[in-house]
Amino acid sequence: MTHDVAQTRRVPDPAPDPAMALAPNATIGIIGGGQLGRMSSLAAARLGYRCHILTPEADSPAAQVSAACTLGDYEDADALRRFAEAVDVITFEFENVSAAGLELLQSIRPVRPDPSVLRISQDRVTEKRFLNESGVPTAPWRAVGSLEDLHQAITELGLPGVLKTTRLGYDGKGQAVLRQPGDVANAWARLDPKPLILEGFIDYACEVSVVVARGTDGSGSIFDAVENRHRDGILDLTLAPARVAASTAAEAARVAWRVAEALDLVGVLAVEMFVDRAGRVMVNEIAPRPHNSGHWTIDACPCSQFELHIRAVAGLPLPPGLRHADAVMKNLVGPDEAALWPQITATPRLIPHLYGKAEARPGRKMGHVTRLFPRGTLPGDEEIAQALGPAAPR
Ligand code: AMP
Repeated sequence: MTHDVAQTRRVPDPAPDPAMALAPNATIGIIGGGQLGRMSSLAAARLGYRCHILTPEADSPAAQVSAACTLGDYEDADALRRFAEAVDVITFEFENVSAAGLELLQSIRPVRPDPSVLRISQDRVTEKRFLNESGVPTAPWRAVGSLEDLHQAITELGLPGVLKTTRLGYDGKGQAVLRQPGDVANAWARLDPKPLILEGFIDYACEVSVVVARGTDGSGSIFDAVENRHRDGILDLTLAPARVAASTAAEAARVAWRVAEALDLVGVLAVEMFVDRAGRVMVNEIAPRPHNSGHWTIDACPCSQFELHIRAVAGLPLPPGLRHADAVMKNLVGPDEAALWPQITATPRLIPHLYGKAEARPGRKMGHVTRLFPRGTLPGDEEIAQALGPAAPR
């Protein structure tokens, strides 16, 4: 299944001007030192670019494979300035840089995607408002600044609902499911920082995501919708392609592209969606960067999400998001799954990826494995578990 991005474009786009592309050996600055930066840096190296990482963490996964690193806090103006002056273009794998920090960076070098995109995705209320104003469906929601607001929101939306912090939530942190009125006071007291957002609880059939890339010239590239399964709020398994109706996959792709265009995005964007029992999609959240649910593209696609991101940031043409195999991606989370490494590397056909993190804390993403299947032959859950061998979900 391929999605024709051209159908959803507003105007035919000219080919990117090669004179505007970043020259080989130029330096791409990446804000954030985690695994997304690491895999972006590896993709950049293959295209002949150097990467320079800004991170407060010594020996970070990204810096281990990059040409340079500025050690500094994301709010340290001096570090931000030194970093920006040392690179040719700036992108990020970590989104929570303050508005002032982003302005400073932008005053020195081009930042891609534009900081306005981050400002939208950093805050769940801003994000949902933007999505709804762009004609993109989400769960019903209300902004919640006080306990009175929360009671009012529950009156309007009903229970169950999901109460979330508007900022700094990830991997299911900073949220609580409200099932009955007795859950309210405790959840309000526990969730910080305020303000919060209440969302209607979606009884979804499955969760899917679409990774899309958009270039400096507005051209686009899109991967097939994939299905995501979470454990303890953390992505556990991604199945590519999603086992949903073709019409649902096409709708998910259309929605993702609409979001990329509405944002005037340059770079890669992941759009996470719920699929309800009628096959309709609703956006849960967006991430304007490479995403965990796109890691399978490294092994199953001629051009991965990381290469597409680097190409977009560098002003290179974007090849289509082709997929030459079906794939399953299993995250390796925490000490128990990290300890499976010897068995995983000893299992033929598991493609191992380790992020170079020294310490395996509970809930920490340590690596992932990909298992490929010939296109069109993604098996059922039991066979997938067998095929993953020692990495099978427990
Ligand atoms: P989030 O941090 O928003 O990505 O949410 C983490 C997980 O919580 C999602 O992947 C869903 O499994 C679940 N979840 C979040 N929001 C809702 C909702 N409105 N209705 C049902 N489940 C939700």
